[in-house]
Amino acid sequence: MFTLFTLLLVILTVFYILKTAEVNNGRKIAEKKYAETKVEKFKSPQALTKLSILPLIDSESAGENLKTENGVSYLVQADDKQILLDIGFNKGKEHPSPLLHNISELGKSFDEIDTLVFSHLHLDHVGGMAEQKAGKFSLSQGKVETPDIPVYAPAKLSPSAFNPQFKNITISQNPTEIAPGIYTIGTIPRQLFLMGYIEEQALAFNLAGKGIVIVIGCGHQTIQKIIERTKALFDEPIYAIFGGLHFPLNGTTFFSKIQYLLGSDHPPHQGLSKKDLFDAIESIQAENVQMVGISPHDSTDWSIAQFKKAFGEKYIKMKVGKEILL
Ligand SMILES: [Zn+2]
Ligand SMILES: [Zn+2]
Repeated sequence: MFTLFTLLLVILTVFYILKTAEVNNGRKIAEKKYAETKVEKFKSPQALTKLSILPLIDSESAGENLKTENGVSYLVQADDKQILLDIGFNKGKEHPSPLLHNISELGKSFDEIDTLVFSHLHLDHVGGMAEQKAGKFSLSQGKVETPDIPVYAPAKLSPSAFNPQFKNITISQNPTEIAPGIYTIGTIPRQLFLMGYIEEQALAFNLAGKGIVIVIGCGHQTIQKIIERTKALFDEPIYAIFGGLHFPLNGTTFFSKIQYLLGSDHPPHQGLSKKDLFDAIESIQAENVQMVGISPHDSTDWSIAQFKKAFGEKYIKMKVGKEILL
């Protein structure tokens, strides 16, 4: 018995030491890649006159008819274009998926969506765990007919057998204009403990008379780097920031505690701290951002309460089915 316990302890210790070495090394590689990536300003970016964000998947909703889950899908209406950022988790492997259910409940349709963008290739953004492992994405766990619209992915990605129609997939590691006034800021790398290396991109919209609106998936990049990259791409001020920033702090549920282990680029004994959260808030305040909304899918109630306190009337709740007008 004692021997078995000792063996287990040795295995766990070796695992922890190896994972710590991996995350420390990976963090240096990611930092180096980020520092070496040079980007150029977008020349005279077109200004949009109309912009709204409708969360289709997140962990809170505005109506009982809408499904919630720990994932993200946001539909952005920018003038006459509809951009879908991420497609949720579908943890229960349902068909129709929570995404399809909510799209239909909200009177929306895939026929109207112009572009599909993936922030990063984690399970809660590509429609499932099997999808993440296979480097694929699924809108649902059954056949879904949609037009073959352009897809922007942060790394190699292909459609699953449930939606093979997507043929036009661009890997947008560099900042790219998706349509006039609509941009991806390009990928920013991060090495996460257990979850490994990840490249994540965020969307930027240039709203006339106001400035840049940033829409984020999980926020593994860190908001500081997202802001730095955005400022390197645009002369316009940052007007609003919406989406996940990944602050599973002071959590009460098992899931949020696991998230804490998965989501940091340091080993758990030096992991995510309250200081990281307050530094993030400060970096947003330094830009005089006028609207802020944090996704509850990867941040705890406690963390979101800190944002609400810091931004007061400028804070906007993010809920499935509640359209945010900018
Ligand atoms: Zn996420
Ligand atoms: Zn993620």
